[in-house]
Amino acid sequence: MSHECFADEVAIDFPSVGRAVERMRVSFHGARANDVTDAPEPVRAEISLSPEDASRGLVVPLAIPVRALCEPCGGRGEIWADPCAHCDGTGTSLVQHAVRVPVRPGVADGATIRFRLASPAAGSVSVEVQVAVRPVRQA
Ligand SMILES: [Zn+2]
Repeated sequence: MSHECFADEVAIDFPSVGRAVERMRVSFHGARANDVTDAPEPVRAEISLSPEDASRGLVVPLAIPVRALCEPCGGRGEIWADPCAHCDGTGTSLVQHAVRVPVRPGVADGATIRFRLASPAAGSVSVEVQVAVRPVRQA
């Protein structure tokens, strides 16, 4: 009840708050996207295996999201003078890169598989795949 009163008060007394929040959100979003691009952090993924698959070993198909050059703007982040809508002006976009991850027989729960992914658009990306071994419940 008091929460609703507060919201009304803000809307009436500070009509510009909505726009200020929108600007903050956009600039925060932009900063975060740049952090992702510059970070040496590997791309992380998780696979879940049954104990049977884990003891046998297998090849798991995965789609790894990698940051690649934005095609519509060619990585410039803008088309003519306008920010590129496809990549929010960052010049890069996330693409799903299909890989087949070999899991060695006897892999343990919590194991990490590391490899590098090379793609023409994104260059070399390091990937960490966390393995979870879980009993399969038959419904
Ligand atoms: Zn773009």
